[in-house]
Formats: sequence, structure tokens, C-alpha cells
Amino acid sequence: MTDQRELFDDAHQRALRYLAGVDDRPVFPDREALDGLDALDGDLPDQPSEPLDVLRLLDERGSPAAVAQMGPRYFGFVNGGALPVGLAARWLGDAWDQNTAHWVMSPVGGRLEDVSERWLVDLLRLPSGSAAGFTTGTMLANLSGLAAGRNELYRRQGIDVRDDGLYGLDPLTVVVNEQSHAAVFKALSLLGMGRANVRTVPVDAQGALDASRLPPLDDRTLVVLQAGNVNSGAFDPIGEVCTRGSGAWVHVDGAFGLWARASSTFDRHTQGWELADSWALDAHKTLNAPYDSGIVICKDRRALTDAFEATASYFAYTDQREGMRYTPSMSKRARAVELWAILKALGRRGVADLVDQLHHRARLFADLLRAEGFRIHNDVVFNQVLASAGDAATTRATLQRIQDSGECWCGASTFGGEAVIRISVCSWRTTEDDVRRSVRAFVAARS
Ligand SMILES: *Cc1c(COP(=O)(O)O)cnc(C)c1O
Repeated sequence: MTDQRELFDDAHQRALRYLAGVDDRPVFPDREALDGLDALDGDLPDQPSEPLDVLRLLDERGSPAAVAQMGPRYFGFVNGGALPVGLAARWLGDAWDQNTAHWVMSPVGGRLEDVSERWLVDLLRLPSGSAAGFTTGTMLANLSGLAAGRNELYRRQGIDVRDDGLYGLDPLTVVVNEQSHAAVFKALSLLGMGRANVRTVPVDAQGALDASRLPPLDDRTLVVLQAGNVNSGAFDPIGEVCTRGSGAWVHVDGAFGLWARASSTFDRHTQGWELADSWALDAHKTLNAPYDSGIVICKDRRALTDAFEATASYFAYTDQREGMRYTPSMSKRARAVELWAILKALGRRGVADLVDQLHHRARLFADLLRAEGFRIHNDVVFNQVLASAGDAATTRATLQRIQDSGECWCGASTFGGEAVIRISVCSWRTTEDDVRRSVRAFVAARS
């Protein structure tokens, strides 16, 4: 243990040094840092190396090349920051190195999944008794909810697609928001339902599904709605679609936006979300859990666990939490460790405050940019801001200079056919001063 202690202390010191510098480093690594990665390359060594030397090399060359997503001015994609309590719990949980496939492999991991499930369902005001599975992210959470829905709609017709597959069956009707996230189409493709074989529903100017243009729904229909358009943050009229009482299975992709249910600020958008059948969300986005951490929630526990049923002579199912029955994975790390710690540390109030804070900083960002003559393309209903600096070429050139500045980092997108800079305020660390500093970087980049 003595030599391990030295190694772990060393890792700890290096991690703390990284975190201490994360506010001020370039948000995206510069050329020199990227070139430094060559030192991590080369042939597989024939001989062992000293672990302390391996760690030093990783830190010296890896840390400078890390993207400062842990810092306060990373606004790319929709990538959350990481709350200290979550990261610390993760460090402890990593020392445990638990596998949560079976309860008997990790009673603590299983128990934390049970508790996190209950707390999340309560926090998001979903039907009590709903089941949660813990995945790598919303892609797999979408896949899980859609697998449960697909199987259940066929099961109600007396067909078990788990055994027989989809061969020769009348297809289900799959109805999606035309601006659904790529993860939805990827999941549909993996599930044998096809990316293109869907009915797309047009959206309004904000990217929310237009309920008046839905096709007829019935008990052979799988509907996929969005809580949070990936560009604008707009919320689909989920309650309105669900109250049609069609017998359709409604799945909600709420990767970052489902967290709006945790704050009363968003009540006017979030009515009726509990009426859906399944929901997918990311803890690594709005909740600021460390990567990677997604969640599927399903009203019908049996539909979810049936979808992932697997048997082998050595499996040890009990009536306790068997993690592998809730997700496509078998072996998996104990993601509920940090999830539980964050929910315990923040409580209902703290999660609501976090969600509100991201929203307020996004609105400030939009207001300040507008005052500087940038055009804002969306109603800032949540944490997403879409801005442009003029025509497409000017906007793209401005974005390039913003990225090169190292002051902050945003990505490019198009919205309503126009080139935009996509800003996602998704880190607990982003202060109002960080927003002001970033706006100054936008202004400097434009001129
Ligand atoms: C991020 C995101 C996804 C994909 O989630 P991962 O965690 O990357 O798997 C799906 N849908 C929406 C709306 C997202 O924002």
C-alpha cells in the first residue's frame, strides 16, 4: 500500500493542480498543447514502466491538451460542468470499482440506484413507481425507452419481438419532431425501425413540434417528443400530445431540458410531462454530474426490464436491484454514486437553483449580445442562445476568432436556415462575470 499511496497522492496533486488552473487556461488547447500529444503516441512498449512515470507523462502532455469543459466559459454543444461533490464522490466510488450488473456484485451500487431512481422520479414529478436505468448518456437512454415502447406496443398485439425479431411484422408508425436530435435517429436505426421510415412533424419558428400537424395516433404508434430542442432549447407541447389518449407510446428526449421539471420557473412549459411513457435525460448536462451519466425513466417497470432480459446459468437474479435489467449494458460502473451524492448535497432547492442559474446566465448572455448588436435567433426559454454577427460568412469568421481566442468556446449550427453561433450555458461555474468576459470576446472577435 505504501507505493500505491505515493501514486494516488501524486494523482491527487496533479488533479488538484489541473482544477486550480481551469478558470484561466485557454478554453480550447493551443497548437503547442495539441502537438504535445505526440509524446503519448508511439509503439506499444515491450517492457513495463514505472506507474509514477506513466502518470507524469500523462499529466505533462495530457492535461495541457484537455478542453477546459470543467471551467466557466465552455459553452460548446450541451456539455455540462462537474460539481465538486459529484467529482469527489466519483473519486471515492472509483476506488470501490463496483460493477452494478448484479446486486450481489455491489449491494451499495444497487442501493444507490434504487434511491437515485426514487429521488429523480420525485424531483422531476413523474409517476411514482417509475423505473430508472443508468446509462452512459441520453443516446442509450433513448434507445432504452424506445426499445421498451416498441416491445410493449407489439406485446399488446400478442407479439414478442425479443424472441422473434421484427421479421415480417407490420411496422409501427414512428412519429418524431422533424428537428429531433441525431441520437433519436441513431436509436431508431439500431432498433430496426429505420432512420428514414418515420413521420416527421413540422415545427414552429422556435423548433417546437406543431401539435396541430400531428398525424393520427393510435396504439401502434411510437411518438418521440423533445423537452429541449438541441439548438433553441424549445419545449415540445408534450402534455397536449399525451392528453390525446390515443394508446400511443410517448417517449420524451429530455437530455438537458427535462431538468426544467425541477424548477417552478418553467411551470408554464412543463405541464403534463408526467403523462408520457418514458423519458431520457443526462445527468452530465444540466445537473453537472461528471461524465458519463445518462438516465432512462419508464413508467412501466416491467416494460423496461423485459426489454433487457437476459439469462445465463450463472446469472444471480434476486428481488433486489439488478442493474443489468434496466439498461442495454451488463457490466457497468456505479454511476449512481455521484448522482446520489449530487442529489443529496443539492436537495430539491439546490437543483432548482442550479437550473434557474443556468437559465438566468443564458438570458444575460442574450441581452448583452443583443445590446452589442448581435442578433439573437431564439426565445431564451432555457439555457440555449443562438446568435449571429451579420451574414453567414461574418458569423462563421467571428466564431472562428472566438474559438481561437481561448477566452471561451462555442460551436456552430444553423437555425431557420441561418448560420448561428450556438451557446449553451451548462456549467454551475459560469458566473455573470464570465458571461460579460465572454461577450467582450464576441465583440473583439467581430471587429
Ligand atoms: C446531448 C443530447 C442527446 C445525446 O445524449 P448523449 O449524452 O450525448 O448520449 C440526445 N438528445 C438531446 C436533446 C441532447 O441534447
